[in-house]
Amino acid sequence: MTTIADRLAIAQQRIINAAQLTGRNSSEIRLLAVSKTKPIADIITAYEAGQRQFGENYVQEGVDKITTLSTQYPEIEWHFIGPLQSNKSRLVASHFDWMHTLSREKIAQRLNDYRPSEMAPLNVCIQVNISAEETKSGIDIHDILPLANAIHKMPRLRLRGLMAIGSTSADVALQQHEFSTLNQAFAELKSSYPHLDTLSMGMSGDLDAAIANGSTLVRIGSAIFGERHYSDSI
Ligand SMILES: *Cc1c(COP(=O)(O)O)cnc(C)c1O
Repeated sequence: MTTIADRLAIAQQRIINAAQLTGRNSSEIRLLAVSKTKPIADIITAYEAGQRQFGENYVQEGVDKITTLSTQYPEIEWHFIGPLQSNKSRLVASHFDWMHTLSREKIAQRLNDYRPSEMAPLNVCIQVNISAEETKSGIDIHDILPLANAIHKMPRLRLRGLMAIGSTSADVALQQHEFSTLNQAFAELKSSYPHLDTLSMGMSGDLDAAIANGSTLVRIGSAIFGERHYSDSI
């Protein structure tokens, strides 16, 4: 049976291979371990194997894990990657280090208002809808700049880049098309905001296409922690 440590090493090797194929340096690409629905013991196992960045989708589950682990594991960087309702903004602002799924100015304003002054500014990515699937969230690619301009004025937020979820399709040509569209939008946004350094795209099933198109952060869950069973409690 493969262990979490084995699967982390395999994921890291996949990143190295995908980077080499397109002449990129794999040190530009960070691995976010997506631990949603998985028990705290699995996070500690991954931590002991060297992993420091973890992603969570559900506010209360993430906050519970952060509260349990933050004193003993202050080096963990916590990323919120799920959909956020505005009434949960305060919880995200007061616990997480990163928020990847920002697509509304109203939520940005709340996160800015609630970010505690003793914490560093909250790192944020704007989520863009690059998929033809209607269920996917995120803003239209043409609306990125006005939202970026608004976030840029908020002192408790630090805009880091763009995030997207690809279509669930295994069609590699479609994955390539979606990720290259986001990569172009990122390049355009960087002409206004050159400090941006994060293109959050690629998951267990489409990491290669994402890295070929400039991803700097891949979000890997099931390939590290195994399939998710949504009835499991933490
Ligand atoms: C669950 C999730 C992931 C990880 O998905 P896997 O297919 O398990 O790698 C990545 N990004 C987001 C936004 C997710 O919700």
